[in-house]
Amino acid sequence: MYPRPFEYVAPKTLDEALAALDQTEGAKVISGGMSLLGLMKLRLLSPGTLIDIGRIPELDQIEDRDDHIAIGALVTHGMTASHALTTEHATALAQAASWTGDVQVRNRGTTCGSLAHADTAADQPAGAIACGAVMVARSVGGDREIAAADFFVDALTSALEPNEILVELRIPKEGGRSAYDKLGRRGGHSDYAVAGAAAWVRSDNGTVADARIGLTGVGTAPSLAAGATEAIIGSDGSAEAIAAAAERAVEGVTVLEDLYGSEEYKTHLAKVYVARALEQALALARS
Ligand SMILES: Cc1cc2nc3c(=O)[nH]c(=O)nc-3n(C[C@H](O)[C@H](O)[C@H](O)COP(=O)(O)OP(=O)(O)OC[C@H]3O[C@@H](n4cnc5c(N)ncnc54)[C@H](O)[C@@H]3O)c2cc1C
Repeated sequence: MYPRPFEYVAPKTLDEALAALDQTEGAKVISGGMSLLGLMKLRLLSPGTLIDIGRIPELDQIEDRDDHIAIGALVTHGMTASHALTTEHATALAQAASWTGDVQVRNRGTTCGSLAHADTAADQPAGAIACGAVMVARSVGGDREIAAADFFVDALTSALEPNEILVELRIPKEGGRSAYDKLGRRGGHSDYAVAGAAAWVRSDNGTVADARIGLTGVGTAPSLAAGATEAIIGSDGSAEAIAAAAERAVEGVTVLEDLYGSEEYKTHLAKVYVARALEQALALARS
């Protein structure tokens, strides 16, 4: 099906894009178009105007800024998956990006677009939550920082306001290590997550000094697995500690049945993938 007619503008600067977004009722930002165009062709979404940020030059960089790395709005999944800064400081996010869609999708789709889209089963939100990412939302009024754990509000709903552009994602360099694992809808790591988890851990003299665990595919939105996170912090990171943390995988999460699994199955998968992500992150932290 073809989308409904729409206006298209391709600003050359971020300021122009922000002004157009602010002044145009019902406008939507388009970056890679991998999710938005599909919704428009199905007529599930019919924005009157598309503001294409794809020609704004300064947004396609991953930068080292001493205490954090910054991932610009036009950085593709492929770049996030393979860049030396992400593979070192945000391994979970890089792994999630490497399992997002196929080669074509990874060459066009953007990490920030995936986060802004806020699909309940997308891969990279779990990685962003575990890595302690901060989203930088910009409007004509200035910048607003939103913690990844507060960014995913509901299905396809992020904390972004209609006049805001997610201009970059900042990942703190906290010295820990992280990992992501999932069951894809087509088995293995292919396609959106039936369920998946990302874990970040920082060990100190054999104790888990700090941790964060992100879940996807399980609840109404990707979220922090608060119970599992609480359980692993202060533990020795042993197999028993991991198992005890995994038991609390869905504490505080409203588990949703969908086409790919019942509540019971999703709960089971959440425990399995929290355990796997923790095992992998702890192994990296010890190496
Ligand atoms: C065949 C296929 C397979 C896929 N498989 C997977 C998968 O396995 N796992 C997975 O997680 N995803 C998967 N996806 C989704 C894909 O990763 C999308 O690329 C991603 O969800 C959106 O990024 P985009 O840059 O293409 O955004 P767009 O499609 O351009 O935009 C998506 C939404 O985000 C908004 N938006 C985009 N960028 C910004 C910004 N910087 N600031 C504010 N709002 C913004 C748009 O307005 C729109 O609402 C798949 C997609 C396809 C087509």
